[in-house]
Amino acid sequence: MELESKSHCDEQHPHQAEDTSRKHMQNSKLSAGIKKDIEKLYEAVPQLVNVFKIKEKIGEGTFSSVYLATAQLQTGCEEKMALKHLIPTSHPLRIAAELQCLTVAGGQDNVMGVKYCFRKNDHVVIVMPYLEHESFLDILNSLSFEEVKEYMFNLFKALRRIHHFGIVHRDVKPSNFLYNRRLKQYALVDFGLAQGIPDTKIELLKTVHSEGQQDSVHHSAQRSVFGERNFNIYCSTYQENSNTKLIRQSKMIDLSSRKLVTKKKITSTKAVSNGVGRKAASGCPSNLTCDCYATDRVCSVCLSRCQQVAPRAGTPGFRAPEVLTKCPTQTTAIDMWSAGIVFLSLLSGRYPFYKASDDLTALAQIMTVRGSRETIQAAKTFGKSVLCTQVVPAQNLRTLCEKLRGTNSSCNRSQGDMPSKSGDDSALPVEVDKQCAPETLRKEIQHLKSCQEGDGASEIKATDMKGWDQVPDEAYDLLDKLLDLNPATRITAKDALLHPFFKDMSV
Ligand code: ADP
Ligand code: MG
Ligand code: ZN
Repeated sequence: MELESKSHCDEQHPHQAEDTSRKHMQNSKLSAGIKKDIEKLYEAVPQLVNVFKIKEKIGEGTFSSVYLATAQLQTGCEEKMALKHLIPTSHPLRIAAELQCLTVAGGQDNVMGVKYCFRKNDHVVIVMPYLEHESFLDILNSLSFEEVKEYMFNLFKALRRIHHFGIVHRDVKPSNFLYNRRLKQYALVDFGLAQGIPDTKIELLKTVHSEGQQDSVHHSAQRSVFGERNFNIYCSTYQENSNTKLIRQSKMIDLSSRKLVTKKKITSTKAVSNGVGRKAASGCPSNLTCDCYATDRVCSVCLSRCQQVAPRAGTPGFRAPEVLTKCPTQTTAIDMWSAGIVFLSLLSGRYPFYKASDDLTALAQIMTVRGSRETIQAAKTFGKSVLCTQVVPAQNLRTLCEKLRGTNSSCNRSQGDMPSKSGDDSALPVEVDKQCAPETLRKEIQHLKSCQEGDGASEIKATDMKGWDQVPDEAYDLLDKLLDLNPATRITAKDALLHPFFKDMSV
């Protein structure tokens, strides 16, 4: 398989890798660890030495490290580039698919393009134009309403483009949508989890979208906003409690999805024996069935399950209900849900909005905003039954966002008084993971209620409002259409751009 792309020669001779790399880093205040990583990268892919000065590490996720580098142009100018070094254990098909998304769909309409690709053995480095960008959390509460509108408009432009190619991104969230506020530039990045709809125009996505390969070719670890180390944005470490997770799953998941889980596990076990999914589930009983469904008991089969029962792409707080309930047919609509969650953060000033470590907590959190009956009803339309012992009503989106944003002061003040762990600014409490579903809901309702019992007296001056005192109904109408629990009726990117909310913008 050919991975190198476009104009650049992949086979340049390595010149004195060590010397040059040392020269490149003479100025730096880089930490020893990062210096070492850069040196290792030069060694692993020596062709880089002649072309790039690697300056610093700008991102580190589970599956890649991203560096800022400069390239010396013939004109004498220096150009900034982003170098994405994929972990060597990535499946070649997965890498090729990511690259093909960038080369075919990228470079236009706010979708990141690719300049070159370098490979040596199992090390692949994707070279992209560098876009300096903001940390979402840093700017969230200083954005004007107009800027938020432009941000969303540009996100939909990117999504319209990739959806046109039949690409489902599957990990739409702020750290994958780069935003340069000053230049008003935007770029959707990271096709590392992308999949294709059945008639995708990206040939290589046809090979990675099937169920079986999702587990092996795909990542066995889930991504999360919390575990990701992006040096541009806020981060905190996060640990999942596997016991809690298992108990919670057994309480609410329906039988049909359990069968799916078992099937998937068999496939992934097979992949392990092929030497493909090195980190995939091992030592887990793969073909046992269970009978504790819909009881409040957890059987030994469920307790002995490994944590990565059914790896699904994305980040829990951004996952659509059909992803959370493991609906087997997932479409581009899942990206629109995630865009809706981003919009919800922007309108409410809370990020991450849903801070859930697992899918059922995420689903319970969705219920507190969109209503439990509504969620259950929608799940039925895509063939999933969800159990929930408590009825929670749907919230009015405007009321919710205004209260959380602090236009209505009391909630804001009480939040500010709470000791906040590593910048935790999620709209919903974190401790809910420890509880089972009804508890979870109760706590979340209490929290939201306490945010809503404000006296309504706003002391913020009109001059500081940046348009937030005049949010039109169209904004909440669009939000409502994005957070449509039913993927079949959820608004598409194309239609979102034509929504009255954007009537004064040119598509
Ligand atoms: P991962 O698969 O590890 O999440 P991403 O492609 O999302 O990798 O990149 C991780 C981070 O690196 C991004 O969140 C962003 O901060 C930075 N980054 C990625 N590509 C670029 C780019 N072209 N320009 C500037 N920064 C980038
Ligand atoms: Mg990413
Ligand atoms: Zn069981």
